[in-house]
Formats: sequence, structure tokens, C-alpha cells
Amino acid sequence: MTSNFGTMRESHPVNLSWLPSRGKPYPENMEILVSPVTIKERRLLEGTSTSQYYRNLLEGITIVGAPFRKLDLIYADVQFLDLVRRIYSFEQDKQIFVSNYTCPHCGAEDIRPKFNCIDIEFEDLKEEVFGKEKILKDPETDKDIPQFVPGKEYKFEDGTVVVASPLTVGEYIDLATKYLSNIPENKVAEKMADLYIGEYTYLIKQLPGREFKDDNARREFLWDYLSLLFLDEDQEVLDQIEADCTSIMKPIEYKCPECGETVEVYVTPSMKFHK
Ligand SMILES: [Zn+2]
Repeated sequence: MTSNFGTMRESHPVNLSWLPSRGKPYPENMEILVSPVTIKERRLLEGTSTSQYYRNLLEGITIVGAPFRKLDLIYADVQFLDLVRRIYSFEQDKQIFVSNYTCPHCGAEDIRPKFNCIDIEFEDLKEEVFGKEKILKDPETDKDIPQFVPGKEYKFEDGTVVVASPLTVGEYIDLATKYLSNIPENKVAEKMADLYIGEYTYLIKQLPGREFKDDNARREFLWDYLSLLFLDEDQEVLDQIEADCTSIMKPIEYKCPECGETVEVYVTPSMKFHK
């Protein structure tokens, strides 16, 4: 017997306009297909490191129609696809509930927040952070050449201009491998502070007019530079970069059946879903 979605292993196309990036940074004919998460895969995803988690997750995502590296998918989009993959194990028009959820207002256990697949929504990333078309003059022929320049420019107090854009999943894996893996418990707080700066060094993709021998040299410079910035009023610029280049999932609102208060539930892939 087949359901609306065919057999379990079948891949389903995802409408790119649903993604936090709305598909803006991807080639025109590109399509993304996802397969539902199998029980075996669910076990594989649980209890792995952050970087391995995303590597495994990408196995269930297929790109067709245009050449594009999966690692270059926007991280926020992959987080969305992660939920879509899990929820495609269910029928789309059926309500899904989360088990073992405790009401933060009255403490009632297992209040079973319910939602529909289409209720899951991420903040859209602003189109401008992916880049814009600029007209450059060819110095030889003096002709106008339209060129796509990735990212958005931000200026610090001292005049330093940086170009930032949203993290790709490949960059996130890189970040997690360097700053999140194998952290002894007593070092977590310290590492998290590092991660906070580290995230900016990944969001900031370029310093215009400055050459670095490789990505590591660029990040090392940014790391030192941002460590100093964290002490003064440039925090505002950093906050703006974060607001423009990251996407947060909107919570699902659910009325607690015990106390009647509205609970804001942030649906994460690690929750246990049921229909
Ligand atoms: Zn309650």
C-alpha cells in the first residue's frame, strides 16, 4: 500500500520558497529532494557529534537540476530540511504531537503540544545578505560589466569594512569541528565564548582589499580583531551582522491543557514526534 508520499524511501521535492533563504543563493534550476528519516538513520543521528550529525543528515538530501555542492547549502536551510525530513515520515495533513514535553508554566508533564507540518516556520533571511549585482568598468574596453558580489558590507568604528553572509552547512561543520568537538565538561563555558567569536569569523567572509594566504589566516586575523571589538561599542555592528545573517525558527503556540496558558514550543529535530 502507498500513502500520499509513496513508500518510505521515496524522495520528496521541497519548495525552495519555504526555506529561510527562499532559495535566493542557489542556481535557477536547482531542486532539493529529501527522503524521510528511517529508524536506522534516526539511531545513527542520535548521540553523534554535531559535525557528524550534519554529515549524516546531508546523506538524505539530494540536489538535482543544477551542479551545487551540498556543503554550500545555507545552514539555516539545512536546519529546516532536517525537520522536513523527520516530518515527511508522517502524512502532511495529519497533526503531529511531541511527547515528553513539560509545561513551563504549571509543570504538568507530557502535555503533548500538537502542530501541523506547515506551522513550522523560520524567519526569512534578508535577500540583501546574499549579495548584489554591481556594475564594474572593464579597464581595457571601458565597458560596463555586471558582476555578482556576494554578501553585505558592514563598517566598524575604525573604518574597517567587512563582508558578511549567512553560514553554509560546510562552514558550520568546520566551526563545530574546531570549536565544539571533544570539549571536557569544565571547559564548555570557555569554549562557548570562543564559539561566539568564532561564529562571527565564519559569518564574516571577507575584508575587502585585504589579501590572506588562506581561510585560516583570514579567520586568525578576524579572531584577534573581533576579540578586541568585543570590548567596545562596535557590538552594535556585530549585532546587526547576527540579525541579518542568522535565522531563528518561530515557536509553535500551544495551549496547555492543564493550566490553559499559551506555551511557545521551539520544535527541534531531537524531539520525539508522533501522529
Ligand atoms: Zn500548564
